[in-house]
Amino acid sequence: ASRFWQPIMNISNIMNNFINNIAYLERIFETLDEPVTITDKEGAEELGEITGQVSFEDVTFGYEKGINVLEHISFDVKAGESVALVGPTGAGKSTIVSLISRFYDIEHGRITVDGVPISDVTLKSLRSQMGIMLQDSFIFSGTILDNIRYSKLDATDEEVRAAAKTVCADEFIRQMEQGYDTEVNERGSKLSGGEKQLISFARTLLSDPKILVLDEATSSIDAKTEALLQQGINRLLKGRTSFIIAHRLSTIRNCDRIMYIDEKGILESGSHDELMEKRGAYYKLYTAQSA
Ligand code: ADP
Repeated sequence: ASRFWQPIMNISNIMNNFINNIAYLERIFETLDEPVTITDKEGAEELGEITGQVSFEDVTFGYEKGINVLEHISFDVKAGESVALVGPTGAGKSTIVSLISRFYDIEHGRITVDGVPISDVTLKSLRSQMGIMLQDSFIFSGTILDNIRYSKLDATDEEVRAAAKTVCADEFIRQMEQGYDTEVNERGSKLSGGEKQLISFARTLLSDPKILVLDEATSSIDAKTEALLQQGINRLLKGRTSFIIAHRLSTIRNCDRIMYIDEKGILESGSHDELMEKRGAYYKLYTAQSA
């Protein structure tokens, strides 16, 4: 998965050097060019406000001609549903989520949002309704308030605080030397990994995307932070369609649906309980991890 995001991260680093304080990863879809040139097709229409329903219909895709990463993938996700993608590295989880935001065009099949093929609408109207959170939460130099507000520049201080509160970030922020006015830097050296993630949750909540993509961090965190992050995630996901490349068992368990992806495609799909009962690949993964 990290290989997948690398080109995007690189662009963001370059941007960051050029335009200080502007590159913000979670907004990358709106502000940066894609690694591959994807453009609006002629006569592309604006996608109206969506509910967040997503369908893949017989989707085939490869980065290089003749080498398919995904073959004949089909699934339907209801508006507001949370889906965890699990399975071995390199199976295509990041690729699937990137296609929803039309990072790449597919060779065969159709991807629709609220029934509208995403290739028919403007990128801006599509991506402005999506949020993405990557493993490394982006922090730039400025106050905590600025860092959260970045996703919605006209948000009031009250709105920023409310968002932070909802995702459980308010408590640690208020304990910092100058609370919301505390200055942080690009390295985020005053913040722990978990705190950076909480800031990123607040930022994403403020932008209120209908579809959310979360590439969850693998880094080990203590049990207390894990519980806090889980509560934050649960609140962030509420009412949104979400795709989570999940590593934490707590996240996986709570999702409405789990899709186990391997090299051949979607091997298993169902709720945690259903897949546990099946005693297949997910069952093996889960029991191995919780041991
Ligand atoms: P996962 O998220 O399940 O680990 P990925 O979607 O990152 O899997 O990768 C699926 C396959 O596509 C892997 O073989 C990977 O090496 C390849 N791949 C990923 N990103 C790129 C890219 N930008 N260019 C070429 N190949 C890629």
